Amino acid sequence: MKTEICKSEGINKACKLILDGELVAFPTETVYGLGANALDGNAVKKIFIAKERPQDNPLIIHLADFDDIFKVAREVPPIAFTLFEKYCPGPLTMILKKSESVPDEVTAGLDTVGVRFPSHPLAIQLIRGSAPIAAPSANLAKHISPTTASHVYEDLNGRISLIIDGGECSVGIESTIIDLTQTPPVLLRPGVITLEELSEICNAEKYTGTLDVALAPGMKYKHYAPRVPCVMRKTEMLTSEYELAVKNGKNPVIIATQQTIDSLLNRFNTLSLGENGVSAAHYLYSNLHLAESKYDYVILESMPETGVFFSVMNRAKKSSAE
Ligand code: AMP
Ligand code: MG
Repeated sequence: MKTEICKSEGINKACKLILDGELVAFPTETVYGLGANALDGNAVKKIFIAKERPQDNPLIIHLADFDDIFKVAREVPPIAFTLFEKYCPGPLTMILKKSESVPDEVTAGLDTVGVRFPSHPLAIQLIRGSAPIAAPSANLAKHISPTTASHVYEDLNGRISLIIDGGECSVGIESTIIDLTQTPPVLLRPGVITLEELSEICNAEKYTGTLDVALAPGMKYKHYAPRVPCVMRKTEMLTSEYELAVKNGKNPVIIATQQTIDSLLNRFNTLSLGENGVSAAHYLYSNLHLAESKYDYVILESMPETGVFFSVMNRAKKSSAE
């Protein structure tokens, strides 16, 4: 299969592919998604094949308009509307009781469904012109999530027919997932919308169960890993790890906050995460992609686990799982 890359001029073609039961990779503000018609089980199956994704890991349904939520959810508590008004369109996924029209392929057989309203204009156009779209991130399972169309091409070239190029994702890490089927709501995956913010609105709590029966099954899989070894080290250990790697014949790179990089005085290969949690979210995956293409050993700085840094560390720890 030949993989084509288009920009906004390709939207009509993309909509037709979705309605024909094919896959389209598309930009969202979080990361690129690999989409199929969410109401077509056979189309959704193709996502799992293209990505080599385990079948018990459900997908998020992407919608453009609030009213469409009733097509995929059978119970919509008032808090869903409150969160929609505050954060949507935006990087928030809400878990709700699913309606019968949602095929098991989307939810991995669960009785719940994840829904999200992406803010990227091309994502909105694609959904409005076709159907509710089920999508995970548009990368091969386990690999780093894509934040540009060329990241998608690198992983999925030959496996899908179309990639819509909508530029670099602004957020850079996946959506926050909140389970609204529980009282109080439970945070299943942290993102740039933080637990601190959500707990002020709805007393949301952090997930504390075990990963075997994880409510967000994706939590238990290896994730976000570059194709070269990647370790995480405390700020004060970065340079000794780097020197050791050089001694072992490696060409390493340090990925760290700008403050840390400034303190290293240009003596090392570095990639910057910027100065705060939001910038670190934006640069984490793009730096990991760059790192695996130019270097052969990645040293990630261990960051404080507060605010958005907590969500960045959630991904970074998985990228560097030793
Ligand atoms: P990805 O963003 O690529 O990780 O794919 C979507 C993620 O959404 C999955 O990893 C799941 O953990 C999560 N998800 C989707 N649907 C549900 C659901 N019904 N319940 C819990 N988590 C879900
Ligand atoms: Mg993913």
